[in-house]
Amino acid sequence: MDNVFIPLRMLNEFIYCPRLFWLEFVDGQFTDSEDTIRGRFVHRNVDKSKPLHNEIEIGKTARSVTLYSEKYGISGKLDLLEMENGSVSPVEYKSGNMGKDGTPWDTDLYQTVAQVILLNDNGYKCNKGYVYYDRNRKRIEIIISDELVESTLSKISEVKELLNGETIPPPLVDSPKCIRCSLATICLPDETKYLSSGNFSDVRRLYPARDNAYPMYVREQGATIGKKNNQLIVKGKETSSTANFMDISSLSVFGNVQITTQALHELIHRNIPVCYFSLSGWFYGITTGNYNKNGELRVSQYQTSIDIQKSLSISKSIVAGKIKNSRTLLRRNGKPENKNALMELQTLIEKTATSVTSQELLGIEGNAARIYFARFPTMLKQQFKYDFESRNRRPPTDPVNALLSYVYSLLVKDVTVSLIVVGLDPYVGFFHKMKYGKPSLALDLMEEYRSIVGDSVVLGLINNSIIKESDFIHSGKSVAIEENARKKVIQYYENRMDTLIRHPLFGYTTSYRRTMEVQARLLSRCITGEINEYIPLTTR
Ligand code: SF4
Repeated sequence: MDNVFIPLRMLNEFIYCPRLFWLEFVDGQFTDSEDTIRGRFVHRNVDKSKPLHNEIEIGKTARSVTLYSEKYGISGKLDLLEMENGSVSPVEYKSGNMGKDGTPWDTDLYQTVAQVILLNDNGYKCNKGYVYYDRNRKRIEIIISDELVESTLSKISEVKELLNGETIPPPLVDSPKCIRCSLATICLPDETKYLSSGNFSDVRRLYPARDNAYPMYVREQGATIGKKNNQLIVKGKETSSTANFMDISSLSVFGNVQITTQALHELIHRNIPVCYFSLSGWFYGITTGNYNKNGELRVSQYQTSIDIQKSLSISKSIVAGKIKNSRTLLRRNGKPENKNALMELQTLIEKTATSVTSQELLGIEGNAARIYFARFPTMLKQQFKYDFESRNRRPPTDPVNALLSYVYSLLVKDVTVSLIVVGLDPYVGFFHKMKYGKPSLALDLMEEYRSIVGDSVVLGLINNSIIKESDFIHSGKSVAIEENARKKVIQYYENRMDTLIRHPLFGYTTSYRRTMEVQARLLSRCITGEINEYIPLTTR
């Protein structure tokens, strides 16, 4: 790392927040915020156009000058240089407002001083710099002192140390910086603080309650998906439809649907995962771009998966969460005669805490599933020709099982996408053991969502008579959902995922879909040791 030049942009991010620096430059995470987009726009103008203001007396100027300093190990692209009387002054352009009392922000101050250091080391005479604030249309002069140079060099050393470090810095506490931070969704500062210290009461939701983009499904057999400008075009036999890429969060294709290479490239480029299903809803796999280049997280995941104690601890949380949510659904929708089953489930939840082997935990989970599914019919308000007796699949032998299998497939897909976005390997789990082709971690994270999303969708479809006996095809012993009815299932499932809930731990309002990525991120924090315990999403 010693021979690497530290770009001044890195210094800027480090001064703003060391954790942001880590996420961006060590973890390789990046996402745009209003500020970063505006920042790019302003810099583009500086690079290409005339000066943005007229009040500066300009002698000679140079734009976008890239300099290196071997002595200090830094490099930077300087927005604008003004030359006067044999001296040079850098002008750093900023898209936002200056500090409240008319001073530059710390980030801008250090960046400008570092530019002066660069210029001096490259043989230029330079003892001052400016920061221009686009929103105020004003610039602030910074006179360079030895003290400022010394503290800037010390910050540069800290940046180098952190680049070589192994631990992510803790989040800022209750900082207004987090509200404007482009990586707040990834960092989860308040949630992480709350779960690692347990005494941080006011958790702010620093991400939108719902997604701006939505999953897109293409199920028409023989359809072709192509690309034109910024739109995805789906051409069927008789119809065609379009969708803006920016409105799509994921694309799911079922059965015989073709995608052109151009469309696939654009989807990959925009980090929109493409999920492939069989016509009947079996989840085959996924195509994604280079979502996450952080190999270290995956190494930690693999180490955790073979660490018997840590893996067991996460598994206990997963199983307890699953049983708690099943019990809640049964309590809310079942009959009074389920009292014993509820008590038995409660006992099993408590047993998870004292289980000492994964085999024991597996037994608890199996017992809980047996008790829960034995009482599942008490939650149903519609009878079918072939009644639900117990959970079965491959193939399902009754309508309820056909619906459960289909909805669980959609859930696996969404959980898999969340894990990939976070940078985890969906195939290496903790509770579900590794088996070729089995997305063990996706199945782990899915456990807490099975009843509150999956089973709840099935109950809603049946109890509200959205799905009826005529929506199923019986063939031998197997039962499948009729093609048009699948549309209704997907629609109902998406509505459920979009439902806003009050987060049981953090107290803010958010959609189930959003919680899934948050849970995947919290799981990753538990894997890296930043938080001690994985806490699943459970409803009351
Ligand atoms: S959200 Fe806050 S703590 Fe997290 S990286 Fe951004 S500024 Fe730092």
